[in-house]
Amino acid sequence: MRVAVGLVVCIVLASVPAAAAPSGEAPSSAWPGDPVDSHVHLTWAALTLDVNDWADEHPDIVDLTSAGSSELGKTLWVVRLSDWSLETKPNGTAKEIVYIDGGHHGNEYLGTALAYLTAKWYINAWSEGDEEAITVLQNTELHILIMLNPDGNDIDTRWNVNQVDLNRNYNHYWNTCPTTQPGSSAFSESETASNSAYMNEFVTDADLYVTMHTGVWIMLYPWGKWADQPPDWELFWGIREEVHATVSDIPIQNANQGLYPNCGTSRDYGYGVMGFPTFTFETDDEQFVPGSFENLNERLGEEMDVMRYLINKVWYWRARLDVQALEISQDSLETTVFNHGMASTTNASLEYIDANGDVVWSSPFFGVNATNSSTVQFTVPSSKFTDGGSWNLNYQKRVINASVWVNETVDFQPSFIDDAGEGGFLLGFGVFNPVTSLLAMVGVSAWMQRRGTVEESTE
Ligand SMILES: [Zn+2]
Repeated sequence: MRVAVGLVVCIVLASVPAAAAPSGEAPSSAWPGDPVDSHVHLTWAALTLDVNDWADEHPDIVDLTSAGSSELGKTLWVVRLSDWSLETKPNGTAKEIVYIDGGHHGNEYLGTALAYLTAKWYINAWSEGDEEAITVLQNTELHILIMLNPDGNDIDTRWNVNQVDLNRNYNHYWNTCPTTQPGSSAFSESETASNSAYMNEFVTDADLYVTMHTGVWIMLYPWGKWADQPPDWELFWGIREEVHATVSDIPIQNANQGLYPNCGTSRDYGYGVMGFPTFTFETDDEQFVPGSFENLNERLGEEMDVMRYLINKVWYWRARLDVQALEISQDSLETTVFNHGMASTTNASLEYIDANGDVVWSSPFFGVNATNSSTVQFTVPSSKFTDGGSWNLNYQKRVINASVWVNETVDFQPSFIDDAGEGGFLLGFGVFNPVTSLLAMVGVSAWMQRRGTVEESTE
């Protein structure tokens, strides 16, 4: 039913007359595409000239590369934007990574235009000294593959040159939904194979992947395959709540329910296989011929506001654990871990590495909810924790199995507490004081009986 409604909307909107293109724009702000049948038609040749100009004119922030070639041999340009004079963020930590692609479907011009506009917005704003753009590019790498299907784009068709729907050709439950033209096998097409190779080689650590299309004005999060909410529903729902409260009332839904069941999409692959928080961003289908960057920016202004919000806040789109208390007594360890991120994690563990670099203790897995804290207690004798060692926290960035593991040093000194005495006393890290050793030995037998038990509480 929803499919039928979507198709009707597309047909109606396609017949709306396009706005007239203004004339007399300065060459530096001109839109490179040609108007074709009232479409926003950016040809691959025009894109090629433009992205090369960007790289020539802004080598400080534009690093132009290729993800591979289309079936007909057209280069799949990737515009990489960051302040390349900085290897890391100003605070010394690794930059956040954002991956964006456009143009899976060659006749969805506004989706491709949104990918183009996202790159151009940051280049222009950086050149004008815009503080938001400078902050983003000092702290983030944006990897933008603007036109994934140049062969289809240039002949105004949804399919690639082999008549394959590229957004059904990914290796995630490929060809398991009623769908047409998914290709002869997953990644049978050079465009999708190149895109996944790029993801796996250059942006495995991305904390945002947005794939841009045109049809019905909506943002779709996983899954397309299933009607169920994804494991990281808290993250997607949190983003929806904030977007609706502060940026735009664009509908944001699970793809299967928001549009229709679809399998083998780049969105489900990006989330289910790569572990990225992923959105399909669909612009509406009201055709429009931009004469310049400025009027394209106005046409897609609200969509760009959403993109800027997602990019500005990319730091939050994962779990970010922070040990806030670590207390060791004779036979147990209690820790309170806060999550600064908006994604939950279920596979966190604390480990102790001794002075020789050996992991001598690992806690069982525990969970920490998004923007929340967990206090967990483990049964373990304090004798495990010898002098001169260090603590690590291991966890996955998100709940989805595919998400990347983080292994971080805990910058927090534990307190040692004698839980046998009344009120307890702080022993400091000197567990080798004879009294402590004796108490620790007493504690071992209790630990032997209780080991394996984990008491967990979540606030
Ligand atoms: Zn599409």
